[in-house]
Amino acid sequence: MTSYQPFSSLEQWDDFVSARYQPGKSEQQFRQFTKDAHPSVIEFYRQNHAYQTRELVMVKKREYGKLNRMSMGIWEAMEYLNTLVDVSDPDTDLSQIQHLLQTAEACRRDNRPDWFILAGLVHDLGKILCLFGEPQWAVVGDTFPTGCAWSEKIVYPDFFEANPDRSNARFQTRLGVYQEGCGLDRVDLSWGHDEYAYLVTRDYLPEEAQYILRYHSFYPWHHEGEYDYLCNDKDRRMLYWVKEFNGYDLYSKGEGRPVVEQLRPYYEELIARYFPSSIRW
Ligand code: FE
Ligand code: FE
Repeated sequence: MTSYQPFSSLEQWDDFVSARYQPGKSEQQFRQFTKDAHPSVIEFYRQNHAYQTRELVMVKKREYGKLNRMSMGIWEAMEYLNTLVDVSDPDTDLSQIQHLLQTAEACRRDNRPDWFILAGLVHDLGKILCLFGEPQWAVVGDTFPTGCAWSEKIVYPDFFEANPDRSNARFQTRLGVYQEGCGLDRVDLSWGHDEYAYLVTRDYLPEEAQYILRYHSFYPWHHEGEYDYLCNDKDRRMLYWVKEFNGYDLYSKGEGRPVVEQLRPYYEELIARYFPSSIRW
């Protein structure tokens, strides 16, 4: 499915999210912000909510779960992702590699464990999906469960009117296709860079880091407290780490531009502690 790409670069999505979820923002300001959002943000969510069906999610999981696209190391993947920076957006001086390094550096300054710093470094590598031709609505955006009722707290809930799953009565109940407390591992979230990064790295990272990668865009859960009824006790324990991480993802931007080549030796060594020199994508 080809569709108009609303963002000139994925940075626009990141900027929207960090502005939207600023701490101390009242519920009122929060809603107002969403109403006044840039037209490209609104168009993005219109597409995302219309096209992210349960069927689409199943197809993408099966397809990308094969990990048969390419083989490359983590640093190589960071450089590959960096080719995504859009030349039509000269104001964007924060490339994808810079965002990853800034996030990781902020974790490092706070003496976070090495796997937490590494999670910061790799958390957005799934955006490589864009380079495989996936439209923006299938790469970024807040994620949400498919196959059960959409929470009213998902950003722009009205746009779900256009989603074909709307007419499937089973998908419109609280539990939908799931069982109470079944655990998030069994829940099929909307498809995007979170799930893909998880699929690629899950054999190598500790479980806490896997949760960070897999659920960092699941704002309805980690920010709004929705969908607890699908969680098991492990999910609730791991929620702590997803929340801890979120601050670094959102607020590490203003912290000065990391010098990539200076930081590279440290991060190459950190990567080698967990990953082989090449992994499957
Ligand atoms: Fe992300
Ligand atoms: Fe990020």
